[in-house]
Amino acid sequence: MTRLGIFGGGQLAQMLTQAAISLGVETVIFERSPDSPAGRLTQAEIVGPWENPALLDMFARRCDLVTLENEFVDAAILAGLEARGLPVYPRAATLAVVQDKLLQKERIAAAGLRVPAFRRVDSPDDLAAVAGDLGWPLVLKARRNGYDGYGNATLRGPGDVRSAWDRLARGGSPLLAEAFVPFARELAVMVARGRDGAARAYPVVETVQRQHICHLVRAPAPIPAAAADEAVSLALAAVAAVGGVGIFGVELFALEDGMILFNELAPRPHNSGHYTIEACAASQFENHLRAVIGWPLAPTDMRAPAAAMVNLLGRRAGPVGPGALRAALDVPGAHLHLYGKRESRVGRKMGHVTALGATLAEAEALALRAADLVDL
Ligand code: ADP
Repeated sequence: MTRLGIFGGGQLAQMLTQAAISLGVETVIFERSPDSPAGRLTQAEIVGPWENPALLDMFARRCDLVTLENEFVDAAILAGLEARGLPVYPRAATLAVVQDKLLQKERIAAAGLRVPAFRRVDSPDDLAAVAGDLGWPLVLKARRNGYDGYGNATLRGPGDVRSAWDRLARGGSPLLAEAFVPFARELAVMVARGRDGAARAYPVVETVQRQHICHLVRAPAPIPAAAADEAVSLALAAVAAVGGVGIFGVELFALEDGMILFNELAPRPHNSGHYTIEACAASQFENHLRAVIGWPLAPTDMRAPAAAMVNLLGRRAGPVGPGALRAALDVPGAHLHLYGKRESRVGRKMGHVTALGATLAEAEALALRAADLVDL
């Protein structure tokens, strides 16, 4: 039995473990805190800081190979595992580039792919000069550790610089400035890429964010075929450019005129790919396992003309009751997922719901109706 180590024990590791069980793969969860969604699914759980050498050694000895569910694992830790002969996918070298938004954008731009204009900025004075090039508004981003928009600020003019700088630079991360992209839609493409470089892309989806958190995913994205083809080519090329092995979520902007720009990529299963569990021939989690273990990739085609996924975000603070899903379970065709988090908080990702349909409108209405009835 292959023993797959995973850094992180949240919902992505949980769904990866569910797929692993079906394929006869054992997962070993290394999570900072006890009682994690994935940790509860396996007997092989290590709890503590990833930087702890004794725990890291124990983890390494229990695994045949290692992967991750979030991109914030120090690349040096991954390189250390590789140095002792343990396969790590995605590779330490990929993580080192991807976890710094500036290095990531430089790599993608160097591969000839279209990205928003961007500049490194090391001080508020730098930003004044950069704004001369990029114009206002611009988007200021922490280069490291940003997620769900926490590391970003949109600046409309010089008056916004000081407070945005103080907030984003406080975490100690250097910053990056980007031209503001007046996008018509946000798109995402999941790409599975094997150790041999063979890759498969899932259909292009549209993601709709609310307060910077993914709210709704429409699959396939309602865009012309030429734009979808361009999005898929760009995503495949971006994952190849970082030497990616495993599943990657590639986030893109579509402009009104159909032009596609790269935003960022995540070296792991992605919220925009959850719909693949019910809606595709094989899920993003199954294809991640296949890719990192070195097995053949599975087809990525959709099983229905359309699918929609709605995130179930916490609406209050407090424990999750046993009847949280009760009313939503009455909606036929709504595929409900709860991540087993014991406490809800406003905006916390607690689960998701997917619905298939003959049209996007039908799938979306079904998923939204079920999501509305959930008590979280
Ligand atoms: P995170 O890592 O927090 O997801 P992103 O860089 O993907 O950060 O940005 C989060 C959101 O902010 C994007 O989904 C998009 O809505 C918006 N955004 C990011 N970059 C730009 C940009 N250059 N122009 C306009 N909007 C942007």
